[in-house]
Amino acid sequence: MANRSRPEAVLFDFGGVFLDSPFAAVRAFGEQAGIPDDGVMELVFGRYDADTDHPWHRLERGDIDLATTRQEILDLSQAAGYRIDLFDAFATLVRAGIRDEMVAVAREVRDAGLKSAIVTNNVREFGESWRAMLPVDELFDAIVDSHEIGLRKPDPRIFELALERLGGVAPSRAVFLDDFEGNVAAAERLGMHGILVDHDDWIRAVERLRALLSGASETPL
Ligand SMILES: [Mg+2]
Repeated sequence: MANRSRPEAVLFDFGGVFLDSPFAAVRAFGEQAGIPDDGVMELVFGRYDADTDHPWHRLERGDIDLATTRQEILDLSQAAGYRIDLFDAFATLVRAGIRDEMVAVAREVRDAGLKSAIVTNNVREFGESWRAMLPVDELFDAIVDSHEIGLRKPDPRIFELALERLGGVAPSRAVFLDDFEGNVAAAERLGMHGILVDHDDWIRAVERLRALLSGASETPL
């Protein structure tokens, strides 16, 4: 019974899961700069749960580089009466540390014999720095990075690709952790078990994952 309810694979987002949330960093920047919350999020990230031609979405799909994105978002923000330099907006994130307890649970996933992957909307220019923050080879069987494949969450194909790279795990046997609700919802629509990682209470996500690993979860897979 316990075995039947245990997952076979765990898929982790990176930003906002192992590292502080990029969304929180930008929100804090907006607050400091006197830009309304909705405005700053829309200007930097576009409508994040859609997949559009917003420069940030094109960056995450690997269509344009970081310098171009930085300039386009600066232009967009100036047209709206603000001045948003991405490098300022992400400044607090650059100084943020890794969440050790999340790394610990990723190790427990491996120790339990499960497969694991990172599924990240990411940026070519950040690649080496974020990978250096974690022992990625040790912790994950696969890294699915949006800019390398031209697909970004919440596009369901990115989850399907990740499951395929893990050897064809059924969605119903996989857990997915992300700090963005739209991404979790997309994974759940595929039949995966979603865990939303809350910025202020991320340890709760660790506890929920541990419950699933032990087969003690109230929601059998
Ligand atoms: Mg994230």
